[in-house]
Amino acid sequence: MQHTASAMHRDRDLLTRLDSAIGDGDHGANMARGFTAVQAGLARSGPVPSAPVAAPDDTDAPGEILLRAGNCLVSVVGGASGPLFGGAFRALGEALGSFPEVDARRFAAGLTAALAKIQQLGAAVPGDKTMIDAYAPAVGAFRAAAESGAAFATAAHAAAEAAEAGMRKTVPLQARKGRAAYLGLRSIGHQDPGATSTAAIFRSLAEASG
Ligand code: ADP
Ligand code: MG
Ligand code: MG
Repeated sequence: MQHTASAMHRDRDLLTRLDSAIGDGDHGANMARGFTAVQAGLARSGPVPSAPVAAPDDTDAPGEILLRAGNCLVSVVGGASGPLFGGAFRALGEALGSFPEVDARRFAAGLTAALAKIQQLGAAVPGDKTMIDAYAPAVGAFRAAAESGAAFATAAHAAAEAAEAGMRKTVPLQARKGRAAYLGLRSIGHQDPGATSTAAIFRSLAEASG
């Protein structure tokens, strides 16, 4: 989560620019605000801005931390991406539960639940030019690696590569969900902001896992 928070602050202007082209220009601010709140909750440094998130202690399991982070994103981030990313982190956290250790297979099952939650909430399918276009291939790559017995970090790097490839493939697509869909054919030729932040999230997972 700390790696992701850093990435969202680093990529804030990029996400703003992408969302200005085919949306309302707030994706950078949304993600930065959400992860500032997540970070504050995890670091136990000062009050968490407008978020009812208790700071985890050192004994909290990864699943519990992810659940809190998801709750935080849902409560702090407005717009489409808050409930979708928040719901995904919550689903992942719930799937991991209070197990103190997370291996690749268990995490793959959690990511599958997270993807299902995004699709349940947003009803987007691959090719609609949304975060799903990065998230779904990332989950597929993580699962394939985990099922073949790969270590967590190997699976995470495969997921990051797949997310980035999926992100780039959103450029020629016409948006069919979210604000960009209102642009119709004019959404073609732009990279989707939510697919871009999704790729950064999976890259952060890979970096954090070694
Ligand atoms: P808003 O569009 O409400 O301003 P953001 O700018 O924070 O919210 O997020 C926009 C991103 O959300 C889009 O780039 C897209 O990836 C994602 N998104 C929008 N609608 C959906 C949906 N129905 N399903 C999946 N992702 C979606
Ligand atoms: Mg927006
Ligand atoms: Mg908005």
